Amino acid sequence: MERILTPSEIRERLKVLASQAAECTACRLHEGRTQAVFADGSAEADLMLIGEGPGNHEDRQGLPFVGRAGQLLDRLLGQVGLERHQVYIANVVKCRPPNNRDPRPDEIEACKHFLVDQLRLIDPKVVMTMGNFATKLLLKTSVGITRTRGQVYPWWGRVVVPTFHPAAALRSGPAMEDLIRSDLELAVQTIQEQRAADPQPEPLSDIGEALQEEVAGQLGLFE
Ligand code: SF4
Repeated sequence: MERILTPSEIRERLKVLASQAAECTACRLHEGRTQAVFADGSAEADLMLIGEGPGNHEDRQGLPFVGRAGQLLDRLLGQVGLERHQVYIANVVKCRPPNNRDPRPDEIEACKHFLVDQLRLIDPKVVMTMGNFATKLLLKTSVGITRTRGQVYPWWGRVVVPTFHPAAALRSGPAMEDLIRSDLELAVQTIQEQRAADPQPEPLSDIGEALQEEVAGQLGLFE
């Protein structure tokens, strides 16, 4: 059994992974990137948000969700009592797909070990998948986000709460913003319930290889 890491050890490991992503040439997405976009936020977060891939602003600034969709996300987080530095934000792929197309199966395959390691190190109580792409990958489902959102899904002793991608809310308007806010409230409430029910759950990092294989299998859904 792997021992539980201290927060500074987790930060150190995440830093090493970010450096590896910065140098990574394992898929064609490295060709068009300005820089890899590894993550933002706290290594001790109870809530981990997962999007699809970096866009133009993210590619230039090296941080996830910093364009208009990111500003909306920050505002919605604030409305449920959270700030960006209290959550952990990452994407399925770390380099910007050209013209913001969906990542391809071989790109997901090449990049998935970064996301698996992020999940194991952060070990969040709740994973919030944002948009169809991340939701279908993690939940291994073909059901669209409109029908999956607003619910909690057990996942490796933790919980996945899917919601719309903030970019979709920018296109659709305030009604979708309300739904994302409601899903964030559900995530916060679920975190509080999990803390009360089991203050010291088995760490994801202890699950080791089994999690690695299972998540890898789920992330290979589009193969
Ligand atoms: Fe490497 Fe992932 Fe970037 Fe592809 S998307 S080059 S696998 S870091």
